[in-house]
Amino acid sequence: MGRKLDLSGLTDDEAEHVLRVVRRDMKLRKKEEDRLSDLKHELEEEGARCLLLAKQCGFNEQCCIRCCGPFSFFLKPRRVCLDCRYNVCKACCSYRQHKNGYVCVFCHKSRILVLALAEVTRGTVVEPVPVCGDDIER
Ligand SMILES: [Zn+2]
Ligand SMILES: [Zn+2]
Repeated sequence: MGRKLDLSGLTDDEAEHVLRVVRRDMKLRKKEEDRLSDLKHELEEEGARCLLLAKQCGFNEQCCIRCCGPFSFFLKPRRVCLDCRYNVCKACCSYRQHKNGYVCVFCHKSRILVLALAEVTRGTVVEPVPVCGDDIER
């Protein structure tokens, strides 16, 4: 435990290589942090926008809170997001088999953000997760 970076036993080439890897790792982490702060900002704006829309009487009864498109029985069926409880259209949510319900893109992104932030805090860099997972309903 508590291994330190000891370069004394390495040749110059090896030491150079190790340093390059470390630098690359730091760069990756910085990039990941930037990406997460962008995502966080985006989610905050979306949250504020959605609160405004939800205040408009009856808006969410007729229109998707995410894309603002009007629901229609065949073309844009209405679903309820399990997390935020807003009405969303089929295109703005995905089916979660293990929850037996729908989660909207916004809540899905929020989850990714929380998970990714936890990873960054733990010090490991995760590969960017695609916003729509394999379990999306097509
Ligand atoms: Zn929508
Ligand atoms: Zn939601």
